[in-house]
Amino acid sequence: MGLDDIRSRVAAAATKAGRAPEAIRLIAVSKKQPEERVRAVIEAGHVSFGENRVQEAAERWEALDPGGALDLHLVGPLQTNKARQAMGLFGTIHSVDRLKLAQTIARLAEETGACPDLFVQVNTGEEDQKAGVRPADADAFVAECRGLGLPLVGLMCLPPVDEEASLHFALLAKIAERNELPRLSMGMSGDFEVAIALGATDIRVGSAIFGSRPV
Ligand SMILES: *Cc1c(COP(=O)(O)O)cnc(C)c1O
Repeated sequence: MGLDDIRSRVAAAATKAGRAPEAIRLIAVSKKQPEERVRAVIEAGHVSFGENRVQEAAERWEALDPGGALDLHLVGPLQTNKARQAMGLFGTIHSVDRLKLAQTIARLAEETGACPDLFVQVNTGEEDQKAGVRPADADAFVAECRGLGLPLVGLMCLPPVDEEASLHFALLAKIAERNELPRLSMGMSGDFEVAIALGATDIRVGSAIFGSRPV
C-alpha cells in the first residue's frame, strides 16, 4: 500500500538529514478520495489526516470518526463564516492568512475556551491566485497573531508548481526561525523528501498515499 511506502521514505529522508523520523508528522491528505481508500488508511493505524474544505470534511469525518479520536488538519483556505465549524472539527489549521480571520479565531477561542494549533500560511511565490501572507508581511502578521493570543505553532507554504520547491522551503524555514516558530508545514507527494531535508515537521501527502484523486 502507498502508506507503508511513504512511511519508509519519510524515515529514510529523516535519517539522511540527521533527524528523528518521529519528528515528522505525516498528514494523509484525503480530500476528494473515495471513502474506501480512506478507511483502509485508518485501518492501517494512521491517525493524521488533512482536508481542504470544511464542509466536505465535516460530512466525511463525522461519519468516519464520530468520537473525534483522529488528528484532523485543515490545509485549505478558511472563510471566516466557517471558522466556528472548522475550530470544532480540526485540531490544527494550516491556513491562517489574514487579520480578519485571525481576529475571528481569537474571538471564538475566547468564547469556547479552545483553539486548534495554528500555522500562518505564507505565499512564498507571491502568486496572485494563492492564499497566504507575502514574505515581506510575515513577521508583522505573526506579531499581530501573537498579540491576539493565538496559539501559533509554525508556518505553511504551497510553492508554485513550476518552480524549484527547495527555494520556497528554505525561505519558509528562514522566516520561521527568525520568528521562533518551531513547526514547518511543507512538502507534498512530489517533494516531501526535499522538504524533510530543509526542516519540514508536517508534510502533507495525498496522492502518493491514496492514489490519484478522481476528477
Ligand atoms: C491537496 C493538497 C496537498 C496534497 O497534495 P498531493 O500532491 O496529492 O500530495 C497538500 N497540501 C495542500 C494544501 C493541498 O491542497
